[in-house]
Amino acid sequence: MSVVPALRARRVVPAACAAILALAACGQATQAGSATREDLGDFVVREALLETDEYVDLANQLSEEGWLEDIAEALNASLNLPVDIGIRFAECGQSNAFYLPDEREIQMCLELFDGEREVFAAYFETEQEIEDAVAGSFHWTVFHEVGHALVDVLDIPVTGREEDTADSLATWWLIDGQGGEASTISAALSFYTDPSQAGEIDDSEYAGDHSFSQQRYYALACHVYGSDPEGYAYLLEEEWLTPERAEYCPAEFERLSASWYALLAPHLKE
Ligand SMILES: [Zn+2]
Repeated sequence: MSVVPALRARRVVPAACAAILALAACGQATQAGSATREDLGDFVVREALLETDEYVDLANQLSEEGWLEDIAEALNASLNLPVDIGIRFAECGQSNAFYLPDEREIQMCLELFDGEREVFAAYFETEQEIEDAVAGSFHWTVFHEVGHALVDVLDIPVTGREEDTADSLATWWLIDGQGGEASTISAALSFYTDPSQAGEIDDSEYAGDHSFSQQRYYALACHVYGSDPEGYAYLLEEEWLTPERAEYCPAEFERLSASWYALLAPHLKE
């Protein structure tokens, strides 16, 4: 499994925060932060909720490898929280993941592994490439759910779709925490090939609370490219991105990164 990045407060935060203060969002985050700055909670790995023997075996293997434990450790090294947030494997009957606000708990469905393996097996040749892509996409999905959890317990302001906010937290954390770009690219590829959105789009999809998978794919690819246009020039050269979108990606990622640092500044450990 790849390294799970931790984040620290960075020195640009006060300046970014000051610039945004006029919009009140930063003020609100700071206010919420002043009440929650003490480290009263942690991400806590809870026992898996499983019925099928096959998934019990898989959960045992993943626990031995520390999949959730490493992520919880990185988050706890980075964030002061007002309350505990649970995180566990579960059997859900679908390839998905959830944040349950009433339980303050993230549930990562083990069905995800089957779904992702199928997607990546069509793309990669070696077992190692498939495993790495599954692990990367899993990583990103955990951080997406962490985004929902932080919106909930830290009262992070949301001014558009909360799903887009959760996407942006995952992408920012994995990129700025260093070393998570490959995970973000794996998640992007998973969205690109989402079989549930092949063919005609119906009203329920237009009315859904997620952006379309293809839009999520382009947003993730854009933010990885924007974080380092020279290092990720291949994303443009190999047409992962359109040139029209790519032009704006560096500024888009910089704004995204400054916004998350400002919003989380009161909660990031020094
Ligand atoms: Zn979500």
